[in-house]
Amino acid sequence: MNRRGEILKEMGLSPVWTLRERAAATQNSAIPLMNWEQLKTKVAGCTDCKLRAGCTQTVFGVGGETASWMLVGEAPGSEEDRLGEPFVGQAGRLLDNMLAAVALERGRNVYIANVLKCRPPGNRNPEPDEVAKCSPHLRRQIELIRPRLILAMGRFAAQTLLGSDATIASLRGKVHRYMDVPLIVTYHPAYLLRNLPDKAKAWADLLFAKKTIAGR
Ligand code: URA
Repeated sequence: MNRRGEILKEMGLSPVWTLRERAAATQNSAIPLMNWEQLKTKVAGCTDCKLRAGCTQTVFGVGGETASWMLVGEAPGSEEDRLGEPFVGQAGRLLDNMLAAVALERGRNVYIANVLKCRPPGNRNPEPDEVAKCSPHLRRQIELIRPRLILAMGRFAAQTLLGSDATIASLRGKVHRYMDVPLIVTYHPAYLLRNLPDKAKAWADLLFAKKTIAGR
């Protein structure tokens, strides 16, 4: 399959285009070639899906653009929408504490981004068309960063990056690959806030990730 075919497949588009699909593909086909500035500009002005109309601002990502660790969440919540940075609410504070416990810090060797760059209304789950439209931005971020490890936090990040509908429980504890980068699946910090006993499992995932990156 050529690059165009791969891009269409990623976007969930068939090779036989409807007019609407053709318009979407044309708009997004430049993403795989964009540099950081072009990608940031594209995301800031993006109206590819219905979410931008209902959010305050796009939330691109935070951290060093050559970071070794790339953490991927789901979508901005209300605090992230207000401040323009991923994981700055309660779930983000838990994430920062967990990172600190393994000597990691956002902005220092860790890049954090979401599958969706715009907040879904009322923090509802991302819809498939929104993921299809927005995930090429995340893919390009990963290509530009070339991290040594990706930590997919929660079902949407894991399923989007792995192209799978498997559960978090079945995906944990293995080293997967995304564009040849080792990828480890863990629980979403917001889930951990509601399910405190699973924090121990997330902690084990973090240690597994640390061991994986050390062995590369
Ligand atoms: N949840 C996410 O998945 N991402 C954020 O940025 C905040 C909460």
